[in-house]
Amino acid sequence: MPIHSPIYSIVIPIYNEEANIAQLYQRLCAVMQLLEGETELVLIDDGSRDRSLEMMRQLHLADARVSYLSFARNFGHQIAVTAGLNFASGQAVIVMDADLQDPPELLPQLVERWRQGYQVVYAQRIQRQREPWLKRFLAHWFYRLLRHLADVEIPTDTGDFCLMDRRVVDLLNAMPERNRYIRGLRAWVGYRQTAVQFDRAPRYAGSVKYTFSKSLALAINSLVGFSKVPLRLSTYLGLASGAMSLLMSLLVLYWRFFAPRSPLTGYTIITVVVFFLGAVQLISIGILGEYVGRIYEEIKGRPLYTLSEVGRFRAHDLHNSASQTSADQQA
Ligand code: UDP
Ligand code: MG
Repeated sequence: MPIHSPIYSIVIPIYNEEANIAQLYQRLCAVMQLLEGETELVLIDDGSRDRSLEMMRQLHLADARVSYLSFARNFGHQIAVTAGLNFASGQAVIVMDADLQDPPELLPQLVERWRQGYQVVYAQRIQRQREPWLKRFLAHWFYRLLRHLADVEIPTDTGDFCLMDRRVVDLLNAMPERNRYIRGLRAWVGYRQTAVQFDRAPRYAGSVKYTFSKSLALAINSLVGFSKVPLRLSTYLGLASGAMSLLMSLLVLYWRFFAPRSPLTGYTIITVVVFFLGAVQLISIGILGEYVGRIYEEIKGRPLYTLSEVGRFRAHDLHNSASQTSADQQA
């Protein structure tokens, strides 16, 4: 590592956050003074349509610690974080949201644990009281379902807010997959991981950028990406309906020979059975489709994102020319 590379990189994905950027920068500046050692801010504009990019340019011009990337369109939060990790050059890389729900003041605690020898320090929220109850309810049960089904242990109630050691970031950068569930990949690499608890603040300003459909897509991605149990589900459903049809035939035989009148008359029962089997088959095909669709996505091998503008930390150009090329190849 050349002497130039900063110790800390703070990676922040930004999508239409003009109302948060000034406050975010201010609070980060105060925290960066507390951190011993050089720090860089890597801001990723995920195709914002408001003044976010302009504000990022201004910060970059005024403060050499700030570099930014701008996507040619909206690629989504996970891809924005991925791009940030590709470009960050710090020994410890911190990922956080731009809306100040992840308090910058927690950074010294994350750093402390890293200095104690942990390669991944993730922030775990102790309460979500301030978010809508439906979101809280769904998130609560989803994390528990995922924990149950996933191949790796993905800690509950954690987001992408974390600190990762250079070694972990290099590994994540080397992972070619495009359906990126960073929390999962982060858990997958292993090493020494620990949690720091925090109280998740409400959004400082602006509206939620993670719409319900984006959250749902992320949830499906995480399940499909880290578990093969859904595939097995169709086998189980098939076995269950097979067992049921066997039971039904035995019943029919019994009624035919020993009961004075069979209760199985009329179309109703047939209709119900046809619909039931139709549902089982369609659900199975749907689940299969989720996996096949991802194979298709991977095989196409399109770049993860396209960049329209890069404002880079000038002092690092030398060191980054190597990693830049690999990032460019991906981009
Ligand atoms: N974000 C992004 N691209 C998107 C959606 C969100 O870069 O398509 C960013 C957003 O600007 C914020 C972070 O991801 O910094 C988290 O978004 P949000 O606060 O809407 O999600 P939540 O806090 O509800 O998980
Ligand atoms: Mg938020």
